[in-house]
Parts: sequence; structure tokens; C-alpha cells
Amino acid sequence: MNQYDLIVVGAGPAGSTCAALCAHQGGRIMILEAARFPRDKVCGDCLNPAVWAILDRLGLSSAVRALPSTVPSTMRFSVSGHHELEIPIVSTTCSASSIEERIVRRRDFDALLAARACEMGAEFRDGSPVTTLRCHSGIWEVTLASGETYHARRIVAADGRNSVIARLQRHYSPRTKDGRIGIQAHIPHPSDYDGALAMRIYRNGYGGLADLGSGMANLCLVANKDSMKELRREAELYYRISTPVVWRSITPISRSQVLAPARNGIYLCGDAARVVEPFTGEGISYALRSGALLADILCTSGGLTSPPSSLQDRSYRLAHAQLYGRNLWINRLTRFLSEHPRIAHLTAPLLLRHPSLLSFLTKKVLNPKNSDVE
Ligand SMILES: Cc1cc2nc3c(=O)[nH]c(=O)nc-3n(C[C@H](O)[C@H](O)[C@H](O)COP(=O)(O)OP(=O)(O)OC[C@H]3O[C@@H](n4cnc5c(N)ncnc54)[C@H](O)[C@@H]3O)c2cc1C
Repeated sequence: MNQYDLIVVGAGPAGSTCAALCAHQGGRIMILEAARFPRDKVCGDCLNPAVWAILDRLGLSSAVRALPSTVPSTMRFSVSGHHELEIPIVSTTCSASSIEERIVRRRDFDALLAARACEMGAEFRDGSPVTTLRCHSGIWEVTLASGETYHARRIVAADGRNSVIARLQRHYSPRTKDGRIGIQAHIPHPSDYDGALAMRIYRNGYGGLADLGSGMANLCLVANKDSMKELRREAELYYRISTPVVWRSITPISRSQVLAPARNGIYLCGDAARVVEPFTGEGISYALRSGALLADILCTSGGLTSPPSSLQDRSYRLAHAQLYGRNLWINRLTRFLSEHPRIAHLTAPLLLRHPSLLSFLTKKVLNPKNSDVE
């Protein structure tokens, strides 16, 4: 029987972090991942400076910095039909080391995290989508599409914004009001955007461009499904994309948050528990931090070998609410504006006329001292 202390479903930043830290504490951990690794992912590829505290804990900071990546030196904000504004990005210092915003391909970043989880003792199976979940006498049985089964007292659902586990366990309604879609492509880098992280507000959505180095850039666009075709055409013209590129898509962009991220031995972390608006590029950092938070709670209060307790559930629910409760007001504001593109297109030019306000907001998002990272 494939019996584990903990089964982690999904090897994104949340799942690999949680698995690595639990395995490090001696737990018998299995990560089940649907995709074949390494895999690309719809994401802006931007690491917020708050990630470094967790990457330090995982012993991965140097390895991440050694990946093909760039450190943007400026934020460029623009609104279609208006001039653009450039704000310098200043890396902050924390415990005598510099912590920067960094652009890294998710394909490389996620593969590194999963490999680290294995080095720290977790087992990893990719190409293994979980399809069903059942509980027999306090033991969860996870079934893969192949029919194989795995067993554990605890399951971590780190399977992203369309979490199968959350849906099977009715942690949230599968329906969501958000009709927006996100698309992403790696494109030839427009030379006039060297070293810049560019956010652009279009008439019917927004987009972000990040310099990946080696002549490539990441371009993400977010809009209502009906407007996406038009937005894509506008962005392709704006960034002079003349060769065919592969666009990947993801939906929904947001969803109602889960009522209880911990219940009966099922724990949700990362996007599976709560999705943050892509505009501010904080999703990976919240995924890493919620994965680490969950590992700490699972390994301390009662440990992984004892049966799940309501104390553990409550501790995680409270800590999770606290993690997301603070500092997300800018993110929520960008979500509101993105859901109301006309208001965004009217108000954004006002921001361009107030560089100090835009600079303040940028610093708030890019300064981990403003977040609850220890
Ligand atoms: C357009 C867009 C741009 C973004 N840009 C940024 C950015 O620049 N910076 C940033 O910080 N955040 C960004 N985000 C958010 C970021 O991508 C997510 O917050 C982050 O990936 C969440 O990590 P996670 O580990 O929770 O889930 P994911 O990264 O989604 O990982 C989930 C994993 O679970 C696997 N999985 C799914 N279903 C199953 C199953 N049934 N069985 C087994 N495995 C399964 C998936 O294959 C995947 O590997 C962006 C999001 C969007 C939509």
C-alpha cells in the first residue's frame, strides 16, 4: 500500500515548499503532480522580493539567482492613448543582504523547487493527475487518472486556482462570477524595454511585460473573455510581435476565497486556498509563504504522525487569514479596477500625473518590509 504521512497534490511553489519543509522534519511525503516536469505555466514570471525569506529557508536563494533571470531596474506604467511614466526599482536590504524583484521562468523555478523537495526527502511523481478522493476510517485515499491509489491521514491541496481537491471536497463553489481570462506568451524582447518591468492599461484590460534575458520577454494579458482577442491584437501591435508565438491561457483570474482552508485532514494552500490578482505579481510569494506556514503548523502542533486535530485546523485557518489579511489592499484595488476596465482607463491617467503616488504604491508592493515576512 502506498501509505504516507502526507500527500501533497500539486508541485507549484505552494506544494513543493510545504512538501520540502515537512519532509525536512522527517515526514513521509508524496507529491503528486498532474503535469510532466519541467512545465511552463501561465504567469508573469516575476518573483516579488518577499520570496527570498522562504527561499533562504529552503536553501535555494543562490540556486534561484543562478537560474537564467534578470533584475528589473525600472517600472514603466502606461495607459493606451497617454504618455508613460518610469519609476526606478530600488532593491531593499534585509539582514545585510539585498533582496530584489527577479524575473525567472516558471519552468525553471518550479522544477528547482520540486527537485529541492526531493533532496529534502519528499517523493515526487509527475504526470500523475489526482481525480478522486475518499475517506475510509480517517485515512484518505487518493486515486490517480491511471487508477493507482495512495493513502495518507492528511492531504495538502496545492493544485492551483482550479483545485480538484477543493472542488471534490466542496471547499468552494465551482462557479465564479469572474469572466476574465489570462493569457501569456514568451516573445522576442522589444529592445526599448531593456531592464524594465512594464505594466500597461488598455481600454479593455491590462498587460505586463517582463524582460527574461537572452532576447526573450514574458507578456501577460488579462481581460474579459469577450475582449481578449482585441486586446491581444492591440498588444501584438504595441510590442511589434511579428512572428507567431504560443499563447497559453488560464481562467478564472479570481474566485471567491475558500471558507475553511483546513477541514478533516484536508489543507489548502497557495492559489487553491486564495487567488490574488496577477497585476501586482505577488501570487508566487503568497504561495510560498502559505506552503511554509502550513508545513510549520503541521509539523509542530501534534506533528504529522498523530491524527489530524481540530487544533491544527484552527491554527492554520487563523494563520492563513492573517497572512492574507494584511497588505493586500493594493492588490484588491487593482482587482476592482481590472474588473471595471472603463473606470481603470479613466483613473489610471490621473496616477500617471502623480509620480510620487505611483512610486509609493510600487514601493509598498516591492518592499517585503511592508509585508509580514519575518
Ligand atoms: C496571468 C497571470 C500572471 C501572473 N503573474 C504572476 C507574477 O508575475 N508573479 C507572481 O508572483 N504571481 C503571478 N501570478 C500568480 C501565480 O502564477 C500563482 O499565484 C502561483 O502560481 C500559485 O502557485 P500554487 O503553487 O498555488 O499553484 P500553481 O502554480 O498553479 O501550481 C499548481 C500545480 O498543481 C498541479 N495540479 C493541478 N491539478 C492537479 C491534479 N488534479 N493533480 C495533481 N496535480 C495537479 C498543476 O499542474 C500545477 O503544477 C500570475 C497569475 C496569472 C493568472
